Amino acid sequence: MEKNKPKIAIDGPAGAGKSTVAREVSRRLGIKYLDTGAMYRAITLKVLRENIKLEDTTALVRVLENTKIQLGDDNGVFLDGEDVTEEIRSSGVNGLVSPVSAISSVRRHLVSVQQAIAAESDGIIMEGRDIGSRVMPDADYKFYLDASIEERARRRCREQLEKGITLSLEAVGAEIKNRDNIDSQREDSPLTIVDDALVVDTTGMTFDEVVDKIVETVYGGQR
Ligand code: C5P
Repeated sequence: MEKNKPKIAIDGPAGAGKSTVAREVSRRLGIKYLDTGAMYRAITLKVLRENIKLEDTTALVRVLENTKIQLGDDNGVFLDGEDVTEEIRSSGVNGLVSPVSAISSVRRHLVSVQQAIAAESDGIIMEGRDIGSRVMPDADYKFYLDASIEERARRRCREQLEKGITLSLEAVGAEIKNRDNIDSQREDSPLTIVDDALVVDTTGMTFDEVVDKIVETVYGGQR
């Protein structure tokens, strides 16, 4: 297969709008999209369901080796064949996903799956925390999407409200902050801004403006 389409990395803290933006950029550019956070969430859901202690490395490795995660085209996430699209966004998963993601055996496993998907695709837009630094250090374009904590909490609440779920702004802000702290302080591939990333502060930008900025950068061939 001839591979002409670009590899695009989008990283950033929780709630910066990476998924919705990446999905729209993927649609506009006709490039496959991979939400790596959904993979960490699916593993975390299994760890929760099977009541695995995070210190129990043997049990964790067994879970990793016996878990099938599939990401559908329209946002769907399947854990061993079961549709868990909604459940991976639950507060239980939100509370445990960062500690699970800090474990090196979990990262090694998922990074190799993600790199295999990138290798077999003609172009890809991958979104997460360590895409530009670890998963695709050779990406053609790297973006780091940021926004103030208040703005990120507001967006999350609005998103949930559209689904009929009312959340407290304070609780959402605290949950996001807690995840950001663990994600940026862990030893194995923490959330960082790599030197060759274009940082986009989306506070005060509309969704369309953020998408346009990325699409224009890629079309313009600028890094
Ligand atoms: O992107 P999302 O907020 O759904 O990610 C959930 C969690 O998964 C993050 O808070 C982080 O702990 C972990 N994650 C990660 N590396 C990635 C993507 C997500 O550690 N590439």
